Amino acid sequence: MNKVDIIGLVRENVKGLSPYSSARDEYVSDGSKMVFLDANENPFENGVNRYPDPQQRSLKEVLAKQKGVNASNILFGNGSDEVLDLIFRAFCEPKKDNVITLPPTYGMYKVLSGINDIENREVLLTSDFEPDVDAILNTVDSNSKLLFLCSPNNPTANSFNSDSVQKLLNTFKGIVVIDEAYIDFSDEESWISKLSAFNNLIVTQTFSKACGMAGIRLGVCYASDEIVSVLNKIKPPYNVNELTQKRALDRILDIDRVNSEVSDILIERKLLSKALLQLKFIVKVYESDANFILAKVDDATERYHQLLKKGVVVRNRTTQPLCENTLRFTVGTKSENQRLIEVLKDIN
Ligand SMILES: *Cc1c(COP(=O)(O)O)cnc(C)c1O
Repeated sequence: MNKVDIIGLVRENVKGLSPYSSARDEYVSDGSKMVFLDANENPFENGVNRYPDPQQRSLKEVLAKQKGVNASNILFGNGSDEVLDLIFRAFCEPKKDNVITLPPTYGMYKVLSGINDIENREVLLTSDFEPDVDAILNTVDSNSKLLFLCSPNNPTANSFNSDSVQKLLNTFKGIVVIDEAYIDFSDEESWISKLSAFNNLIVTQTFSKACGMAGIRLGVCYASDEIVSVLNKIKPPYNVNELTQKRALDRILDIDRVNSEVSDILIERKLLSKALLQLKFIVKVYESDANFILAKVDDATERYHQLLKKGVVVRNRTTQPLCENTLRFTVGTKSENQRLIEVLKDIN
């Protein structure tokens, strides 16, 4: 259990804001036939001539049921990137506050701290890619507002030890953001189930990976009503467009299909991992809880260019700390993976 004074963490200027009230906030349709002359829209129907629902009610209703939360615990953004940016802007005072990130990890936390002029305090993961709890707690000070835990982590593909995460949740006096972009590919339980135990917990997920909708830009965060209300104050009113809301709703109403694609990817992940282990120039294949595999090779940059020449694009992670000579392979379709393996055998 951790009880953090959330309002005490909010930026001074944000505390005083009330959410922008759009035409679609002031009058919510109850389904009866009304004449809408309130938003200066073009009245001729084409499917998208009306402003979208700023609170994405239909989508939240279905997602809340699937995730076992209330709709008031959900906030959507234009990709997780916008959700993460809103979290920075709600809690971090430029030039004063700091955030803690754990490289090697997702690059956007650092990019967003730069954009928002917030000090990014980096605490390396241990050699087995776990959070170094003592080092993190030694780095924290009274201006540390956010701690980013990416689990399963990108690019290392592992889920973090849950005792370590629990300890950080219990001890850190700021907001703990757990980025679960890859949770659907893991056997670990989502931290969403712990929302009621930790009022300083934000869990972010995305429609870009397991849901297969990177192109519609839809990210989501789950948090206490208190945190979601703060984020709602600074969210652009129409940040999730009508086409995105519609496509996302169709997709999660067909969740069996999403799950079956995830199962296929998991089968392919296993096959790919096995195939990688057969190659002479592969030094190590890391365990994966995600839809990609990190592998250490003899010379990542050379191998990367050899693959590129043969038309296969992977990610070279060699410049990341603790990731010297690693390549990151996204798990593709069966035939894409077969092509990758063929090419890897050619250059072996
Ligand atoms: C891919 C990824 C995301 C997704 O970002 P979107 O903006 O929602 O596409 C978030 N976090 C991590 C760690 C990722 O790897």
